[in-house]
Amino acid sequence: MTSKKILLPETLEGKTLFVAGAGGFVPSTLCEFYLNKGAKVIGVDNFITGSRSNIDLLSAYKNFEFYEMNVFEKLPNLKDEKIDYVLSLASPASPIDFAKIPLEIMRVNSEGTLKLLELAKEKKARFLEASTSEVYGDPEIHPQREDYVGHVNPIGPRSCYDESKRFAEAMTMSFHHRYNVDTRIVRIFNTYGPRMRPNDGRVIPNFINQALKNEDITVYGDGLQTRSYCYVTDLVEAIHRVLMSEDPTPFNCGNPDEYTIKETAEIIIKVLGSKSKIVYLPLPKDDPKRRRPDITKLQSVSDFKPSVAFEDGIRTTAEYFKSLISE
Ligand code: NAD
Ligand code: UDP
Repeated sequence: MTSKKILLPETLEGKTLFVAGAGGFVPSTLCEFYLNKGAKVIGVDNFITGSRSNIDLLSAYKNFEFYEMNVFEKLPNLKDEKIDYVLSLASPASPIDFAKIPLEIMRVNSEGTLKLLELAKEKKARFLEASTSEVYGDPEIHPQREDYVGHVNPIGPRSCYDESKRFAEAMTMSFHHRYNVDTRIVRIFNTYGPRMRPNDGRVIPNFINQALKNEDITVYGDGLQTRSYCYVTDLVEAIHRVLMSEDPTPFNCGNPDEYTIKETAEIIIKVLGSKSKIVYLPLPKDDPKRRRPDITKLQSVSDFKPSVAFEDGIRTTAEYFKSLISE
């Protein structure tokens, strides 16, 4: 295990980040974080799951530049641009997208990541791959540590995502070993917060929107499967620390507080004062039974500590969804 403490710079003035997927939920929040640190951010997105309103928000910053583009087809001409960091965050991430757009998911995580790694190599930039807890599949060890190699069904309904993210990690490490590209990998665990799509299909937006409308809350299976939810600004703090670290091996990023899905529904009903009732629907195939990050590795080299309590994060996220309903 690495022991070198991560040093966080006061400012990123004079630095330029190239962010693939800038119009998305996590990526747009990360772009805003770096714009507030004084960096220049060049974003690209094709809006397959992202939103133009996120780009409108970022466009209020004078140091933000945007290109509408599919990153597995091409990247903008950046010939005269100095790039310090390339962030590979472009990928749909919701299980409902796995059935709808599996090939787009596989291509962005393979061909797209390849293009971004080539850009980092050309620019001598630091590269960061947004990987996922899904690389552990339906895990047989709990909580999940970075040295666990996973339990993934290569032909299951989640495989387009899981296997292409595993490929993206493998390609990232190959560029590091073969070309000495300065790479980082974050394995992101379930993250939620404002800017998620209301119809995203993931558990938190589904349950909050159902609770706000007093509709049935749809728990899949018996609701005893678990997840650990990280509020998006906490995740951004974790990613920033990994980007500033000196360690190319993967870091888990998330919040280890673990809840069953049934508990999740009960908390959301209570916090939002909803009249919703829980209904039970069939469990999707290969749905992971337990998920919780072991974040000892990141905490051993940094001061990272999730700071947003689940109930508070639910309130803030619900305010965001309410603002969309009233628009
Ligand atoms: P998101 O869908 O909101 O963001 C992804 C963005 O990438 C979207 O704006 C989308 O339009 C864009 N995109 C997708 N394919 C593209 C392409 N070919 N060209 C250009 N843009 C493209 O999803 P998110 O939840 O914010 O996830 C962001 C990243 O974090 C993804 O790489 C995802 O796999 C990873 N991740 C997220 C979570 C989570 O809980 N949110 C968990 C694990 C990993
Ligand atoms: N889930 C649920 N009801 C929903 C949406 C999701 O019970 O309306 C469950 C899903 O079966 C899984 C967990 O919530 O066990 C988390 O699902 P999500 O789609 O958010 O992401 P995952 O962690 O499975 O990738």
